[in-house]
Amino acid sequence: MRAVVFENYQTFPELKDVEKPVPGPGEVLLKVAGAGACHSDVAIFQDFTEGAPGAQRPEFTLGHENSGWIEELGPGVEGLNKGDAYLVYGPIGCQHCRACSRGQDTYCENAATMPYMGVGLGRDGGMAEYVRVPARNLVPLGDADPVAAASLSDAGLTPYHAIKLALPHLNGGGKYALVIGLGGLGLLGVQILKALTGATVIATDMKPEAMAEAERLGAVTVPGGEGQIDRIREITGGRGVDAAFDFVGVAPTVKTAMESTARQGRCTIVGIAGGSYDWSFFTAPYEVELTSTYWGTIEELYEVVDLFNAGQLEPMYTTYPMDRALEAYQALVDGKISGRAVVVPHS
Ligand code: NAD
Ligand code: ZN
Repeated sequence: MRAVVFENYQTFPELKDVEKPVPGPGEVLLKVAGAGACHSDVAIFQDFTEGAPGAQRPEFTLGHENSGWIEELGPGVEGLNKGDAYLVYGPIGCQHCRACSRGQDTYCENAATMPYMGVGLGRDGGMAEYVRVPARNLVPLGDADPVAAASLSDAGLTPYHAIKLALPHLNGGGKYALVIGLGGLGLLGVQILKALTGATVIATDMKPEAMAEAERLGAVTVPGGEGQIDRIREITGGRGVDAAFDFVGVAPTVKTAMESTARQGRCTIVGIAGGSYDWSFFTAPYEVELTSTYWGTIEELYEVVDLFNAGQLEPMYTTYPMDRALEAYQALVDGKISGRAVVVPHS
């Protein structure tokens, strides 16, 4: 079968012929419906080096944001039906520590001794015709379109988790949220904020088409550059936003997020670009929580699917057939994707 393989650090992936995987005990083989190209993949093949925090050792098939239909059940798997559509919860922890027991494999207490972080993260992912995943990582899609839903497994779940944790700050009237970076994650972030809160959503990106899409989704947009923080504060009546979400994570966006946040607000950095912030007692707004979040829990992925089935989330995506999968990644590197590029291997 064909697969997009990450062969070496700082090397663009290759489209290769590889063996069709065989599901092990407790696993299923999925026929991939959709595989989203996440910007974290760019970090994996372009930025990370051996031993860097977050680095996953090659070689493996990319794709940590997947949906598919059950093709085959591995030994010991019962109660699932061939042909049913599922979303894949990508993180894989030890499955027996406290974090894994509550469905939060992202914070597995034994991660350091695990040979991989998840599907498409150190073990073969779903940017391929077929992928094997633990049956326990499947979230049912029912009648939902698995191609339209594919990006929810990361681009939906990650902002959902970040926003859910910030809800105490957004609960009540007259609240404001800031979304920086309106790509795969950010555009879903805007919709999740609209679905879960009554807050006014302020959004920003460098791309005019991303800003236009955010406005269509009900956000107020503010261009970047000189005076941006003043403009955001002006919209909020001078107070600043109650919760900021940075889906870029470079130093200037972390600074914008922090300095646009109201006293006692929450500033969540989701983008993994590695930007740092020069915190000081006198310049950081008092009692602002500066935090980071990583992906989400299995249970939260069920909640994201519920929002999708209720018509409250509408992922923006462009499909690519398998033979154009590398083009999708190149377009992502070049900043030319609107929403998500979803590779559809069986189109
Ligand atoms: P994407 O490429 O789809 O979108 C990024 C968006 O940010 C683009 O619209 C781009 O124009 C915009 N942007 C870039 N630089 C900007 C700047 N300086 N100011 C304003 N906007 C800017 O990326 P994505 O797949 O949505 O991922 C976003 C980030 O989140 C990446 O860093 C990715 O690695 C990270 N990520 C983190 C997690 C997590 O669990 N924390 C999970 C998935 C992705
Ligand atoms: Zn664990």
